[in-house]
Parts: sequence; structure tokens; C-alpha cells
Amino acid sequence: MVAVNSHMLGFLKKVAEYTQEAVSAAKYLAQGLGVTFDHMKRRPVTVQYPYEKLIPSERYRGRIHYEFDKCIACEVCVRVCPINLPVVDWVMNKETKKKELRNYSIDFGACIFCGNCVEYCPTNCLSMTEEYELSAFDRHSLNYDNVALGRLPTSVTSDPSVKPLRELAYLPKGVMDPHELPANKKRTGSLPIDIVKKLQKEKVDENNNQTDMDSKNLNSSD
Ligand code: SF4
Ligand code: SF4
Repeated sequence: MVAVNSHMLGFLKKVAEYTQEAVSAAKYLAQGLGVTFDHMKRRPVTVQYPYEKLIPSERYRGRIHYEFDKCIACEVCVRVCPINLPVVDWVMNKETKKKELRNYSIDFGACIFCGNCVEYCPTNCLSMTEEYELSAFDRHSLNYDNVALGRLPTSVTSDPSVKPLRELAYLPKGVMDPHELPANKKRTGSLPIDIVKKLQKEKVDENNNQTDMDSKNLNSSD
């Protein structure tokens, strides 16, 4: 009888342990599903690269474009660069007493894309493009000479093999799929171009108001 009781107690203890484990497992499962359901309400952030690409922001600082014909070899870009990166290869022509530019290069393996050189170049021969795909197997191939720098940038919107996507932050509330959103649908945040247009309109209105006030003042003084 004692043996049967102890056997029974052991069985009940195991059942209790099993039940406890089953309850814990159900709790963890519910927590996991809670995270899943929470994500179902969020906006998608996955971009099927390289078939889909996000359109870079308008002020994106990507690979630098350089125009050889505009460069006067002044080396301002070298002086303002935090690491003196651009290499301006020029010689002095003794007859004309003018600099003759031979080559120009920037090593994008070391460049931090700060944009100082672009900002200070007196002839605007440097500009930042939206090109960001600069990965290479050999870091030395990132040292672009004036021919490589003069190549026009690739654009996400003009590449027929790529589906361009707008920045996900501009999607309207509740929209799950950014891929099928009509271009004219109202967005959560204003696009930079819309903000610029609004500021320009405000400035024009301000100028018009000022002109009206000036003409009124003139009339009253007459
Ligand atoms: S600052 Fe501009 S013009 Fe002067 S060397 Fe550099 S790229 Fe050429
Ligand atoms: S972007 Fe900045 S780091 Fe790169 S070359 Fe220009 S100044 Fe130098």
C-alpha cells in the first residue's frame, strides 16, 4: 500500500511538472506571437535589393563627380579636406606661366564623404551624387582618377532594371505596402521638395506684402 502511494505521488508530481512546463511553453508562445502580431501593424522595412532600391535623399552625399575642364588646379579642395585626400597633379607651363592640370584623383576607400571639397571648390567642378554602391574586392580600385570621377552617376529612378522605392518614412499612416502606393497619395511627412516649394511661396507672399505696404506708405505721404 505504501509502495502504491509513493508511486502515485511520483506520478502526480510529474503531472504537475508537465502542466507547469506546458503553461510556461504556452506563455512563451503567446509572447512570441505577440511580437509577430505587433510587427503586422508596422510598416514594412524590407527592400528586395538589388531588384528594389530606395531613392536616396535629395541631399545625399554619395560618390563625387568631377569636371576636368572646369578645374583650375587651385588645390583648395586639398586644403579643406580633413585628410588632404584629393590629388591634384599639375605642372607649371613656363611659357604661358599657367598651371597645366594632368590628373585628378580621389580615393573613395579613405574619403569620409564630408562634402568639404564640394562646398569650397571655387569653380563648382565637384558635386556629390546619389551613387552609393561603391563596394569593391580591391580597395585600390576605389582610387578614382579624373576619368572615373567624370563618369555620370547611376540613378535609381532611371535604371530600368530596378524598382525605385520612396523613403519609407513618408508613407501615410496605416499603409502597409509601400510598393503599390500611388505617387499622388498624401504622405505622413512632407517631402523635401514640398518644403522648399512652401518656403519659396512664403517668401513670395512676404515680398508681395512688403511691396503693398511700401506703396500704401508712399500714397499716404503724398
Ligand atoms: S578646388 Fe576645385 S578647382 Fe580647385 S583644384 Fe580642387 S577641384 Fe580643382
Ligand atoms: S568629401 Fe571630404 S573627405 Fe572626401 S575628398 Fe572631399 S573633403 Fe576629403
